[in-house]
Amino acid sequence: MSVALFGGTFNPVHIGHLRIAIELAELLQVDSLRMVPCALPPHRQSPSVSAEHRLSMLRAGIANHNKLVADDIELRREGPSYTIDTLRAVRQQIGPDRPLYLCIGLDVLATLDTWRDWQQLTDFCHLIISSRPGCQLPTTGALAEWVKKHRCDDLQQLKLLSTGKLHLCDLTMLAVSSTSIRDKVKRGEAIDYLTPAAVVNYIQQHHLYE
Ligand code: ATP
Repeated sequence: MSVALFGGTFNPVHIGHLRIAIELAELLQVDSLRMVPCALPPHRQSPSVSAEHRLSMLRAGIANHNKLVADDIELRREGPSYTIDTLRAVRQQIGPDRPLYLCIGLDVLATLDTWRDWQQLTDFCHLIISSRPGCQLPTTGALAEWVKKHRCDDLQQLKLLSTGKLHLCDLTMLAVSSTSIRDKVKRGEAIDYLTPAAVVNYIQQHHLYE
């Protein structure tokens, strides 16, 4: 069976992430979709709450969902989380033949050329890019060339290969972000229904984002 990874800060996880994750698992027909919280995002300010809290909220948010799995592979590693290292490790776990998908948003693709060894990502996996409102594919430069070279619109063809392609898909984009949830908590506003009830409870119990 194939494996899909969906990385993020998940600070906290919300229904936008979860809806996308479920749709990706269905689209790619994977046994499980691994949601991978990053430890120290190399391109972002360090998250305001600990990795342990973010992982616990993720686990609480996906509890009882049989397709979604929280994978702490990047939290168990020392130092910054480079995706290429995660892909190498997962590829080693699953062997060379099974398709491996790395799922990212179009907003993330825009800065892919700042990632370590970004041009080698497709040596280990396919990239699945979900569109996001207000985000466009790069049109000039090395990243645009790279996208053109690897792009494959036929998902069935891509599923026959284990690595090497990039596929764009339109999934349900809910207008929720972790930033908006953190801001609401800070202002003392309700966050119900923006994230699962178990995550709302966790945030309240641990006084996060206040
Ligand atoms: P923040 O507001 O802190 O920047 P975020 O809500 O964008 O966080 P991340 O954990 O940074 O969440 O995102 C992880 C992945 O989820 C990224 O690939 C991003 O494109 C995608 N994503 C985030 N929010 C949504 C959403 N509402 N719908 C679809 N995809 C989303």
